[in-house]
Amino acid sequence: MQTVLVAGGAGFIGSHLCKKLLNDKYQVIAIDNLITGDRKNIDVLLRNKNFSFISYDISKDLKIGLELPHIDFIFHLASPASPNKKSPRSYINHPIETLLVNSVGTYNLLELAQKNNAKFLYASSSEIYGDPNVSPQKENYFGNVNPNGVRSSYDEGKRFGEAITMAYIRKHNLDTRIIRIFNTYGPYMQIDDGRVVSNFVNQAISNSPLTVYGSGKQTRSFCYIDDMVEGLRKAMFLDNTKGEVINLGNPDEKTILEIARIIKKITNSSSKIVFEDLPQDDPKSRNPDINKANKLLDWQPKIPLEKGLGQTIAYFKNL
Ligand code: UDP
Repeated sequence: MQTVLVAGGAGFIGSHLCKKLLNDKYQVIAIDNLITGDRKNIDVLLRNKNFSFISYDISKDLKIGLELPHIDFIFHLASPASPNKKSPRSYINHPIETLLVNSVGTYNLLELAQKNNAKFLYASSSEIYGDPNVSPQKENYFGNVNPNGVRSSYDEGKRFGEAITMAYIRKHNLDTRIIRIFNTYGPYMQIDDGRVVSNFVNQAISNSPLTVYGSGKQTRSFCYIDDMVEGLRKAMFLDNTKGEVINLGNPDEKTILEIARIIKKITNSSSKIVFEDLPQDDPKSRNPDINKANKLLDWQPKIPLEKGLGQTIAYFKNL
């Protein structure tokens, strides 16, 4: 049985990935310091004998206090990811941890991969494109990033993470790939994460105002979690992805105001839509060009927005 280490395994995407890997009969070790992840995300997985959880900060020395078996694959998904300063879990409120987990944490995991001769996947982000001047965003676009703005801990952290991952390919020929994850949603998003989908869904089901930041004309493209997990698996386990940088996301682009209206309609909510200040450096558009993922991975998202939102709404209603 092969062993997979998932850093950030108690997070939203990480916990879904662990579940899928267990179904695929891998031995799975999740590692997470729980500053933004949550033990409840992995509660049911802990009953599986092939799953184990280590509460640890990968930005700290991995050689101290950690006894790991031989590892065959490493997914690095550990990082705060919400830009919402109102959320206690956001990277705005954990800027130093965010920079460290994507720099020192990535270095530590790359060293571990090299020692184990493991395949490595770095979860980068559409944030490396910043506030893009081109749309859709293709992997060869360098981005438009404020290097010291409020979002820079995440943007520049991810950019550093990409740079050091590429350095390990060039210098050590390590078997690594970089995946740029665009906005992803679904069950097990944190209710207090401050992301737009979890906010709007929870506001709508409690009939409180839907808080649109700015004019609501900014766009995002939302990928359902199951599609994202499938893309991540293919990117790791197929043979043709070594050294590649690949966007994963759903190109179905919508304005935030449209998202508010769709969620209000599906939940049959009497919520009002209110407008609040636009956060600093909020990107005006986001839309992945996924031709490369389509070609290399034979991957494209299958779950339409309304269906994915239906499942997300059902999850939050059940909490
Ligand atoms: N947003 C909003 N209301 C909210 C939360 C977010 O209008 O309650 C906006 C936010 O300003 C951004 C978009 O929705 O333009 C997506 O925000 P999110 O934090 O989900 O992710 P981002 O793509 O900005 O990282």
